[in-house]
Amino acid sequence: MRAERLSLFVFLDAFGWEILQSVEFFPNLLPHRRRLRSILGYSSACVPSILTGKTPAEHGHFSFYFYNPESSPFKWLYPLRVLPRALASRARVRNKISQALKGFYGYTGYFQIYNMPFRYFHLFDYCEKKSLFEPDGMIHGDNIFALLRLSGIPHHVSDWRRSEDDNHDAALAAIRERQVAWIFNYNADLDGLLHVHGVGSEPVLSQIDRYRQRLARLFAEAEECYRDLDIYVFSDHGQANTTANHPLWREIDALGFRFGRDYAAVYDSTMARFWFMNQDARAAITARLSAESYGRIMPRAELEALGAYFPDAKYGELFFLVDEGHLLVPSFMGERPIVGMHGYHPDASSAYAMLLSNHPIPDDVQAITDLYTLMAAPALTWRGRETTR
Ligand SMILES: [Zn+2]
Repeated sequence: MRAERLSLFVFLDAFGWEILQSVEFFPNLLPHRRRLRSILGYSSACVPSILTGKTPAEHGHFSFYFYNPESSPFKWLYPLRVLPRALASRARVRNKISQALKGFYGYTGYFQIYNMPFRYFHLFDYCEKKSLFEPDGMIHGDNIFALLRLSGIPHHVSDWRRSEDDNHDAALAAIRERQVAWIFNYNADLDGLLHVHGVGSEPVLSQIDRYRQRLARLFAEAEECYRDLDIYVFSDHGQANTTANHPLWREIDALGFRFGRDYAAVYDSTMARFWFMNQDARAAITARLSAESYGRIMPRAELEALGAYFPDAKYGELFFLVDEGHLLVPSFMGERPIVGMHGYHPDASSAYAMLLSNHPIPDDVQAITDLYTLMAAPALTWRGRETTR
């Protein structure tokens, strides 16, 4: 016997609108498609925005690292600054340290030290300490999983720590049992492949083909097990192939101000964020940034409009954002250049996310924050059904 209704949400990290235009992806089964505006920031900002329907300024998640010298949990890492550079910059060593720290602090969120310099680590703090996929995972407010719990709607959510194959099998099993009315299927491998191989590359196209096959199986099974099926396939942002690298970190170092005394900075891959302790450093660094041709200082009004203005300057007093295709190398995120990147202005053509559905998409769904409404709807009506019973 078929169960009543299933709402199936499939998340494909970095499968942007522009990438979608270049491939065939369920044109018949999912004919309703919309280009969605993403938000400023990386997945650490985009995913919380999808899961809450709110902006970074509202939910509190933006870039992973922020300046917090008074209560940095990483103070005791300072001795690691003497590690030989050849060892300290090795990816395997950094992965091991990341895993050890994650266990030590009991962080349940995604935690990576990336290319954070050990000599500065004691000055910084990390924003994603809890898993975003738990009901209490947000810094401020509730996410969709809190609503699901409250509504009592039976649901299945992928475990982002497990492989895509495992999560596919788990979703398939949940569908076959016919007990859940709401599924979130999480897929993040495409993002990594785009970073390493770039848009249009063979490994990326094969991955998209894998999604085609896996999702076709998932949709077919769902059609067989449920009378009504709502499918939403969406992403958080796209990616652009990089065209130029800039050693901004070295250039700011060369100005001669003392890191942690005169100023502090986080060099993300497409953004540099600064805190100032004295006016000379502020003036000189601002002048240096204003002279760069490949990016610009973000005005406060624009950050406010993008939902990325933090009055307490938690994530920086000054944001410098590079133009699409440009990359800061080295950065606190990576030592070497990579082929694909995201984290540009949401108006950059590669930045747009996508939404596909088997039903017409409501007109007011225009941005990734609007995905929350779609995910919340089945839970809200479920609650109504429960209370009238
Ligand atoms: Zn990424």
